[in-house]
Amino acid sequence: MISRRVQQIAPSGIRKFFDLLINMEGVISLGVGEPDIATPWHIREAAIYSLERGKTMYTSNSGLLELRREVSRYLEREYGLKYNPETEILITVGVSEAMDLAARAILNPGDEVIMPDPCYVSYPACVTLAEGRPVMVATSQEDSFEISAATIEENLSQHTKAIIIGYPANPTGAIMPRQKLADIAELAECRNLLVISDEIYAKLSYGFEHTCFASLPGMQRQTILLGGFSKAYAMTGWRIGYAAAPAEVIAAMTKIHQYTMLCAPIMSQMAALEALKAGDEDVVNMVEDYNRRRRLMVKGFNSIGLSCFEPKGAFYAFPSIKSTGMTSEEFAEKLLIEERVAVVPGTAFGSCGEGYIRCCYATALNEIEEALVRMRRFVDAHRKG
Ligand code: PLP
Repeated sequence: MISRRVQQIAPSGIRKFFDLLINMEGVISLGVGEPDIATPWHIREAAIYSLERGKTMYTSNSGLLELRREVSRYLEREYGLKYNPETEILITVGVSEAMDLAARAILNPGDEVIMPDPCYVSYPACVTLAEGRPVMVATSQEDSFEISAATIEENLSQHTKAIIIGYPANPTGAIMPRQKLADIAELAECRNLLVISDEIYAKLSYGFEHTCFASLPGMQRQTILLGGFSKAYAMTGWRIGYAAAPAEVIAAMTKIHQYTMLCAPIMSQMAALEALKAGDEDVVNMVEDYNRRRRLMVKGFNSIGLSCFEPKGAFYAFPSIKSTGMTSEEFAEKLLIEERVAVVPGTAFGSCGEGYIRCCYATALNEIEEALVRMRRFVDAHRKG
C-alpha cells in the first residue's frame, strides 16, 4: 500500500526512542529538543487578544504581510539583508514545513544534496521524500563538527544540486567560523549550488559569532534561509517559521504550500509578530539561562569521563560515550532502563553520530544535576575493564 518513497525513510530516531518512555515513571528527559518553559506571556497575550478580536480566518497563503514585513526588518537589522516582504518571504508551519517545501521546490528525481553527518533528522528525510539523494559528509569531534568546503568538494558529482547546512547545529552545538562558511560560499558560487541554511538556532549562541549564510558576499541569491520561532522564543507548539529566498524560489515554495498547507495558523502568526517586535529581552534572558545549564552539563560529562565537545550554540551537548565500549543505541537504551535518564543515540543523526549521545540542556538545573548523578553511577557500573 505504501509508496517506495516513504518506505525508504526510517521513522525518526528521536521519536522512536521516546515512544519507549511514555509509560515509564521517574524519567528525566534530556531527549526532546525543546525549551522547558512556556512562551513568554506577552507573546501568548498577543495571540489571545487577536482571538478576542475574532481573528480566526485564513491569511494570505504567504502569511500576514505585517509579519512578512517584520521578518524582513529583522533580517535587515540583524544581518543587513534586504528581502522584499511581498515576494521573497514565506511564512510557514515551522522550519519543518519550510525545509520540506525547499526540498520539493528545487529537487528533481536523483538530484544530490550534500549535508553534514551528523545533522538534524529531517534534512535527509525531506530530501528523500522529494526524490533527491542525501549525501552525508562526515564531520568529527576533532574538527569541532564543522563541515569543510574541501570535504564538500570531494563529494560533489554532476548530480549535486544543493547543500544543506544548519548552524548552530543540532545535535552537536557546533557553530561554523565565518571563514569556513565563506569557503563554502565560494564553492557554491563557482559550482552554481543552492544552499539551504537552517538558522533556527541563530539567536542561541554563547559568546560565539553566528554568520548568516545569506549575508556572505553574493550568497543571498543562492541561499534559501530558514528561520523560526520554536527555539529562541520557546514557541515549539505554535508551529511557525519562515523562509527567505529569491522570488523565484519563494514562488515555487508558495505553490506547494498553497495546496498542502494553505497558510500558517493566524493566531501563531500574531504571536510571531509580537515575538519579533518585543521579544528580544526574552531571548537574552533565555540565552543566559541556557548558558548556565550548558556549562553545568559539559563540565559534568567531562568529569564523568564522557569527553564532551564544547557546544557553542543551540541547546544540546553531544558527549562521546566511546570510553564505555557501548554503541550509542545500547548506551541510550540501558541508561533509560537502569537509571531512567532519556537521551538520544547519536546514530539518530547519521552514522558519524555512533559513539555519541545527544542531551538537551533546555531542562531545569536540578534535573540536569540529578541526571548527571545517575549517569555517573551508570558509567561507573559499566566502565570497561
Ligand atoms: N531545524 C532544526 C535544526 C531543529 O533542531 C528543529 C527542531 O528540533 C527544527 C528545524 C524544527 O523546527 P520547527 O519547530 O520550526 O519546525
